[in-house]
Amino acid sequence: MIEVQNLIGGKHITADECFDDICPSDGSIIASIPRTMAVDDAVSAAEKAQPEWAALSLEQRADWLAIIADALESRHEELAELEALDTGKPLEVAREVDIARSIENFRFFADFARTLPEEVFEMDDATNTVLRKAVGVVGLISPWNLPLYLLTWKVAPALLMGNTIIAKPSEITPLTAYSFGQILCEIGLPAGVVNIVHGYGPEVGQALVEHRAVKAISFTGGTATGRMVARTAAPMFKKLSLELGGKNSSIVLDDADLDLAIPGIARAGFLNSGQICLCGSRILVHSSLYDEFLTRFLAEVEALELGPVISKDHMMKVLSYIDLAVSEGGEIEAGGLKSEGDGFHIEATVITGLSHDSRTATEEIFGPVVTIHRFDSDAEAITMANCTDYGLAGSVWSKNRGEELAKHIESGMVWVNTWLHRDLRVPFGGIKDSGIGREGGMWSLGFFSEAVNICVKHI
Ligand code: NAD
Repeated sequence: MIEVQNLIGGKHITADECFDDICPSDGSIIASIPRTMAVDDAVSAAEKAQPEWAALSLEQRADWLAIIADALESRHEELAELEALDTGKPLEVAREVDIARSIENFRFFADFARTLPEEVFEMDDATNTVLRKAVGVVGLISPWNLPLYLLTWKVAPALLMGNTIIAKPSEITPLTAYSFGQILCEIGLPAGVVNIVHGYGPEVGQALVEHRAVKAISFTGGTATGRMVARTAAPMFKKLSLELGGKNSSIVLDDADLDLAIPGIARAGFLNSGQICLCGSRILVHSSLYDEFLTRFLAEVEALELGPVISKDHMMKVLSYIDLAVSEGGEIEAGGLKSEGDGFHIEATVITGLSHDSRTATEEIFGPVVTIHRFDSDAEAITMANCTDYGLAGSVWSKNRGEELAKHIESGMVWVNTWLHRDLRVPFGGIKDSGIGREGGMWSLGFFSEAVNICVKHI
């Protein structure tokens, strides 16, 4: 049994009150999580550490990111095992996706820092120099679906720009964040530069968002929570980045290569048991290919091996959406049930016969459930794809018209003939109810800094 502790000012602190961390694979208790209100202490530690951290050069902070990447890499397998235990995802996914990307987040920003051009703008009679100063103490709030991956995606650019951090990982999956804190202590990162507070969102997360000394909040999580965070942070004029939910379409045009599209769309629908904000859970297929697509897609889905969903509550929510689909007139083509055994397993579920604007087809389910709909023209596919309040991502599968159609999809990201393919320099984020702001490359560095212009008159 692991005793998760808060990391404050370089020290791990034993908590007076704790609650249980449950393993989704079998429902067992695997760790105790602190329920201490440690935000004030964490903010004090971060404030104390901030001037010295900000006084390092960009290159020195980039060196620290590289050291962190190396340290994570040396513990790759151990971190993957912890992530698999805490989330229930297959070890291979934790190793190849979660931890590989967590290392890459530090490696990428360390290298990216060394490529940044000076921002100097000459006038006839003056020179403008743009400086990027640290924002100060920043709060990073992350979800359970990709725990260390999404946490480090915020930590790396925040550190690079000279901020000190209070991270609030999801209370459902605290293990790799705890281990990450231990690694930071082992490599001697200055005390207080990264503080990690565990606990329930409405308690610890809310206190972090409310704290006056926390100058920016970078939040990834559900849309309803994001709305609450915005309600608190916006009147305080905090910098705010919100990466929220999605309900993304995978669109199969009449010239699609089905050999590519079928495995690609199955992966987009069911990777991480459908618990990725970018998952393509509404599949739109041109009528001319519909029957062949459905037959071959069902065979592809049957061969998938899925981990459990994250918790009992979440399992009940996903199952309630399958009931809703049936009441909305949907036909269950595959899956539809809780799998046998302990833990929170749900079969890979494929539903047809629903209207594209039904609740099942437009609300975020965040589980192994996809709906399939048919369309007759590109224009109809665009209307159907845009018929949700979300606007995070999507994919188009077509030999010739994918890029053109992609331009009409109301979302922050669209893939053509692929999915989850990332260059970390490009903007990542959503429109509509999927959030505000972008992460990635310069977008992250812009968020975690204050751009200041110094205009010097030539005399
Ligand atoms: P959640 O909103 O329940 O929790 C996210 C984090 O917010 C957790 O750390 C939680 O403790 C904290 N929190 C909860 N209430 C809070 C409050 N009042 N104030 C401050 N913090 C609070 O989300 P979740 O269930 O952990 O994650 C799933 C959701 O995240 C899905 O909707 C998914 O689409 C979304 N997500 C979005 C992205 C993206 O990049 N857009 C990536 C991954 C997940």
